[in-house]
Amino acid sequence: MRRISIFGVTGSIGEQTVDLITRAGGPAAFRTVAVTGGRNVARLAEIARSLKAEIAVCADEVQLPALRDALGGSGTEAAAGPQAIAEAADRPADWIMSSIVGAAGLVPGMRALQHGTTLALANKESLVTAGQLLLATAKAHQARILPVDSEHSAIFQALAAEPMEAVERIILTASGGALRDWPTEKLAKATVAEALAHPNWSMGQRITIDSASMFNKALEVIETREFFGVDPDRIEVIIHPESIIHSMVGFRDGALMAHMGAPDMRHSIGFALNWPDRLELPVRRLDLAQLAQLTFRAPDTDRYPALRLCREVMRLRGLAGAAFNAAKEIALDHFLAGSIGFMDMSGVVEDTLDRLSAGPGLEKTAITLEDVLAMDHLARTRAAEAATGRAKGRA
Ligand code: NAD
Ligand code: MG
Repeated sequence: MRRISIFGVTGSIGEQTVDLITRAGGPAAFRTVAVTGGRNVARLAEIARSLKAEIAVCADEVQLPALRDALGGSGTEAAAGPQAIAEAADRPADWIMSSIVGAAGLVPGMRALQHGTTLALANKESLVTAGQLLLATAKAHQARILPVDSEHSAIFQALAAEPMEAVERIILTASGGALRDWPTEKLAKATVAEALAHPNWSMGQRITIDSASMFNKALEVIETREFFGVDPDRIEVIIHPESIIHSMVGFRDGALMAHMGAPDMRHSIGFALNWPDRLELPVRRLDLAQLAQLTFRAPDTDRYPALRLCREVMRLRGLAGAAFNAAKEIALDHFLAGSIGFMDMSGVVEDTLDRLSAGPGLEKTAITLEDVLAMDHLARTRAAEAATGRAKGRA
């Protein structure tokens, strides 16, 4: 029986993974090793019970007694804290879903790869912050990484067995997020609730705001560069409001291969779960006549500074991805807390990158995990200063 673990099981991707596993038979079909969550220990324990997990780990140490209580009599062990989450990734498994949100997903993913475990990777931040390191670790331990981000799963599927030399370009589609039809001058005033009203996808809070600001797409451009090893000049972004084409690969003979489907993450989660097989999935089938048309438009980088900033990050490479992601996470925290405006998020990230690129380190090569974590920490400090400066400017 295949042994699986799910990191970030209480989130949007985690819950959809549980849904597919439950439909496939749950504990009768898979042996669940570890499940991890953040603070929602009631839900974490419920999932651990239903999948008969060996261990459940919550990120928040204060919640350990509550988790123990909730697991009482189930036979599932309880643990808490970031260290315990990393150790859960050491437990032998065949397949791990990496669906923690943010840079916190990096360490458990790295640990799983070191054991040769197949990593279904939703946590794009791992590739943005430490792409080369992650791929080198996978290679050294003959571990496989299967992309779960819908765009990257689409590209992976469109590539099939084609050699990378035959690839001319990659076109990432973007829904444009909740504010895509707003006039640019109004964006600065957008509230959290407005940025959360995503037209097509139901996702976690953080990625939904990142979709509206296009920071999500900026992360995905870097993710594409790192995962598929394509030159940044060959990566394009197009706004496709219907979210039916999940991304495209253009080949040197001019052919474009597109992956199409309903906007449902169970497409790419299920693909990664069943790979290399293709099994039936409970996703809506497209009715093309009913859809009638698919539309596209070019994104405006004045409106979405994130799309410009990611180009600079790819030029610098080294630790720039770690700095970019950390600054973005802090800017997002401040926007969610109401202390900075929607457009200030890109301002905070740009200020942070400017300040950090004035010093040594961003372009460092031969990076270790410690380098990445140190840059993550430093960029968070700088970004918090930049955000506080902007908050004062607003007051
Ligand atoms: P979410 O916020 O719904 O869930 C995140 C999970 O991580 C939860 O289980 C939460 O408890 C846990 N978590 C949060 N902070 C943590 C920490 N510091 N330490 C340990 N665990 C922590 O997020 P999501 O939308 O499911 O996204 C998860 C990942 O998948 C992100 O990297 C996101 O970019 C990526 N992704 C999500 C979608 C989507 O449709 N939701 C699509 C593509 C990619
Ligand atoms: Mg995506």
